Amino acid sequence: MDFLHNIAVVGAGMAGLAAARALQQAGRSVQIFDKGRRPGGRMSSRCNAHGLFDLGAQYFTVRDPDFAKVITHCEKLGVVARWPDLMACHVDGQWQSRHPEHPRYSGVPSMAALTDALAESLEIHQQVRITSITRTGSTWRLEDQNGRLWSGFDHVIVAIPAPQAAQLLHEVATSLLPLPGMSSCWSTWVRFEDTLAMPEGIDTWQGAFLKTSPMLRWAARNQTRPGQHGGERITLLANDDWSDRHLEADPDQVADEMIEAFRQCYPVPLPAVKAQGAHRWRYAQPRRPTEHTAGYLVDMSKGLSLCGDWCIDGRVEAAWQSGNRLAQALCRA
Ligand SMILES: Cc1cc2nc3c(=O)[nH]c(=O)nc-3n(C[C@H](O)[C@H](O)[C@H](O)COP(=O)(O)OP(=O)(O)OC[C@H]3O[C@@H](n4cnc5c(N)ncnc54)[C@H](O)[C@@H]3O)c2cc1C
Repeated sequence: MDFLHNIAVVGAGMAGLAAARALQQAGRSVQIFDKGRRPGGRMSSRCNAHGLFDLGAQYFTVRDPDFAKVITHCEKLGVVARWPDLMACHVDGQWQSRHPEHPRYSGVPSMAALTDALAESLEIHQQVRITSITRTGSTWRLEDQNGRLWSGFDHVIVAIPAPQAAQLLHEVATSLLPLPGMSSCWSTWVRFEDTLAMPEGIDTWQGAFLKTSPMLRWAARNQTRPGQHGGERITLLANDDWSDRHLEADPDQVADEMIEAFRQCYPVPLPAVKAQGAHRWRYAQPRRPTEHTAGYLVDMSKGLSLCGDWCIDGRVEAAWQSGNRLAQALCRA
């Protein structure tokens, strides 16, 4: 037990938060370090002068019974609700509407509400980017971007995208390397002057799969998320292939091109654009699911482990499972 008492978690996305919560509930002392201003990682939301936009994870599904318990509790707290319920699909040049076959959920009013709720009561050091980790005697020492040292950890959990983890660990964790690659994703937000007109035969839609666009894969109407209203605020996601090929492109040009691609596949003329912008996720999703593993990587002899969506599959629920499974394994050790 003493061997695993003081634990550092690098990364306050869904995986790091799930691991930290389970370990804290089991009586361990946990400190989280995250380079962002807020927890949430790829579930964080953007609030600007034009409103609230989700530019990362759009919704999540719930199949794992333990994750379902967490989400049911969050639904009762009012930070999670079902969304989207009315979806559209652009396939073979046709727009069709449908209800999702499996319930989908969003944070209320945006995805970040869920990670904010999970972060409550955890000790998180925000805007602290860990640049190196070193074993000193029987404990670990972390160094951040300002040269500050954080010492005395029995175990370090690295809960960040695989390519960033590989970079952080290349000198200390050869037994856990190499790690898989991840694809990128360009995400564009658009505030329109007026409400979008609906395609013929569709009353309304909240999210749309754009299956035949060579560039786009998804569009969402942020104002339809639970707890939001007013102002047509669209998120557009580009597909992996296009994003990878335009990784270093200028964000303003990317936004222009993505809106033009949406215009081309939307069957009704779009209203005038009031404001727009693009965000690049350099490491958005694992290239291949790796479901056959335990769902995390651990080197007990070193006191070092890794978790994240990429250990299972590029989904919010998979990130939670990875962190939670790792914490359960460490508690049994
Ligand atoms: C555009 C996009 C759309 C998506 N859509 C969906 C969807 O609809 N449904 C779904 O289920 N999933 C979706 N996903 C995937 C989902 O967002 C992820 O599976 C999940 O959020 C990953 O959580 P994580 O904790 O593994 O990693 P992350 O969320 O990436 O968390 C890692 C954290 O580590 C921090 N960090 C990184 N390096 C350091 C460092 N050196 N020091 C300190 N902190 C560091 C980061 O700031 C971040 O907060 C989408 C992802 C993207 C990008």
